[in-house]
Amino acid sequence: METILIKVNREKPEQESIARAGKIIRDGGLVAFPTETVYGLGGDALNPASSRRIYEAKGRPSDNPLIVHICQWESMNRIARRIPEEAKKLADAFWPGPLTMILPKTDSVPKETTGGLDTVAVRFPSDRIAQEFIRASGGFVAAPSANTSGRPSPTLARYVWEDLGGRIEMILDGGEVGIGLESTIVDLSGSVPMILRPGYVTKEMLKDVLGSVDTDRTIWDQNCRERPKAPGMRYRHYAPRGVLTIVEGRPDRVAEEICAGSRKAKKEGARVGILATDESLEKYRAESAADSIKSVGSRTDEDSVGRSLYRILREFDEEEISVIYSESFSDSGFGQAIMNRLLKAAGHRVKNV
Ligand code: AMP
Ligand code: MG
Repeated sequence: METILIKVNREKPEQESIARAGKIIRDGGLVAFPTETVYGLGGDALNPASSRRIYEAKGRPSDNPLIVHICQWESMNRIARRIPEEAKKLADAFWPGPLTMILPKTDSVPKETTGGLDTVAVRFPSDRIAQEFIRASGGFVAAPSANTSGRPSPTLARYVWEDLGGRIEMILDGGEVGIGLESTIVDLSGSVPMILRPGYVTKEMLKDVLGSVDTDRTIWDQNCRERPKAPGMRYRHYAPRGVLTIVEGRPDRVAEEICAGSRKAKKEGARVGILATDESLEKYRAESAADSIKSVGSRTDEDSVGRSLYRILREFDEEEISVIYSESFSDSGFGQAIMNRLLKAAGHRVKNV
């Protein structure tokens, strides 16, 4: 299949391109599009055949449900059987934006879209291209991240092309995304609101609106025997091809350990990459002997770290890096989302120094 790649202006999306993309979705095809979090791979959420095609294109296990993207609050009635007061409060505070809510589904949403579950994940993104595309598509776009299953989510159209070129009808290129990590997921289908995946909307922000909120234990406790409530969290995810180790501890010791580990791995014939920060870059350049040293952003600006993380993991792949060392990040605020993705990318390989 030939994949059409179209550049779209973020401030003023070209209507002809949006209409063309919308028609592809209404005809049962697939279009990748930018959102404020990462690029999504969209299909008609109410058409079971479209959802099946999404799983096929990504190589995604079919029990891993998709998020339904909407472009107006009123659309909730069509897909959610019960809309609790909390949903309204969260929507007032964070929609449009990087928050996904899990609610009991109506019969309009096929089981193919929800991975066989009776609940549906819903998000109203703030990105203008995404909103206009969803509207042109009929209002309900099922979309997981637009990567091959298991690879880091794409933050640039170029990476969508690498993973899915030839397998989908169209890619809308809106440039680099703003946030860079997937949405926060909150489950509102049970008795207490529960965070199933940390994201840009933090636990503290949710607490301010809801009063109290729990976190699914399986997110942080690797030895927990329970099954993660977001099926997607079960799978190895966000993974670079190299073996990634996170080094945690006092900053000076972390840098020493990474430099020593890097020199040793070099001697053993590895191609070594270091995921550094603006603050530590120079030390690694001087002392590590690593083949590729990249700053993911500044410790004083966590947003910059979130935005660049997946891009840097992919760049290490392009450079055929076989051993990667990373510093660790704070476990509060947006840092929780960064650490969650980094731990998954590392298969929870952490060295404490
Ligand atoms: P992605 O869009 O690729 O980030 O994947 C969507 C994520 O949402 C996956 O981790 C799913 O497990 C999660 N998700 C979607 N629908 C549900 C649902 N009904 N219940 C729990 N988690 C869900
Ligand atoms: Mg994904």
